[in-house]
Amino acid sequence: MTRKPMNLTAYEIMETLVAFPTVSRDSNLALVDWVEEYLGSYGVTARRVPDATGRKAAIYANVGPEVAGGVVLSGHTDVVPVDGQDWTFDPFAVTERDGKYYGRGTCDMKGFDAIALAMVPHALACGVSRPLQIALSYDEEVGCIGAPPMIDDMVAHLPRAAAAIIGEPSMLRPVTGHNASAMFQIDVHGFEVHSSKLPQGVSAIHEAGRILQWVNDWNDRLMAETPDPVSATFDPPHTTTHVGMIAGGTAHNITARDCGLRLGFRVPAGDDLGRHEAALNAMLEELDAGLRAKNPKAGVTWERMNGVPALRPEDGGAAEALIRRLTGDNGTHVVTYGTEAGQFQERGYSAVVCGPGDIAQAHQPDEWIDKDQFHKGEALMRRVVETLV
Ligand SMILES: [Zn+2]
Repeated sequence: MTRKPMNLTAYEIMETLVAFPTVSRDSNLALVDWVEEYLGSYGVTARRVPDATGRKAAIYANVGPEVAGGVVLSGHTDVVPVDGQDWTFDPFAVTERDGKYYGRGTCDMKGFDAIALAMVPHALACGVSRPLQIALSYDEEVGCIGAPPMIDDMVAHLPRAAAAIIGEPSMLRPVTGHNASAMFQIDVHGFEVHSSKLPQGVSAIHEAGRILQWVNDWNDRLMAETPDPVSATFDPPHTTTHVGMIAGGTAHNITARDCGLRLGFRVPAGDDLGRHEAALNAMLEELDAGLRAKNPKAGVTWERMNGVPALRPEDGGAAEALIRRLTGDNGTHVVTYGTEAGQFQERGYSAVVCGPGDIAQAHQPDEWIDKDQFHKGEALMRRVVETLV
């Protein structure tokens, strides 16, 4: 079947993508169908990598010859919710106002997705000798869950690209490092008695307090450490441990049976997440054993919810070199938020984060991308494509 090329501008593609309300909890298949149709209109065959439920999929494609040495432009299709946010504009449409494009995902990161897709006809027109690969994931905003199976599938089916550009908003600066992170759900189980009989009970809340005390002590200890040279470029330059949620207890006069916590680590690229996990596990095992000794019904259970590997600055990496050459930016840029770049790097790609817009506008009500950034981003990606000729 021959179809006519869709011939859309990057802006028009962004309008289309933003109109799909692909909040992470919902299906992204309508958007993926559209991307497949768009690519198909240029004769480009895409591959889907569905999730276990079949309600979501990643999609990727190779444009040009299937040889090594290409460039991946990578983005995510999901966006954060707008619930409870006060929006002036329709979040699922693009509104241009005062040099800004407003809409959910314009900045994070359908703007870049649109630019990447707009490069398909450019790559074909240029007659690239090495491929442009487009990779769009799902569930990035809920812990970078969708990219690993997508990248594994790419490795299995395509020659590995020489460079992966993850277009998260970086004001088009080459970001060569970011934190690793991991999150844990910890549940403390106590034993309920009337609080007047406190010694016969086990308060899950009081025992959870020991975990909080460990968190404070651990943070104090980490802050007192001299950072390694890589972590020293991060702000803060040391790992942080944080409990963002805690809930427990049923009444003021009952020793709490349950108390749950969400604990997370953010680890600069020079530090090792493993040592923090090991320390946490050791502390929880000891607490668990102590509680079981007090009462067989008491104890601690915990589970690692998700984790994102760090992006480690590469020594002469191809992705970084490409962006530095095209932008002339030789500064050191590292960020404390996680992206899918570490997951590409973990699977053998040279990776860099570089995309239009400022992370400060991500996830906000009235999210926007600066018009000038968007079009500069488009111009930069055109030049990236031209290096593949
Ligand atoms: Zn993002």
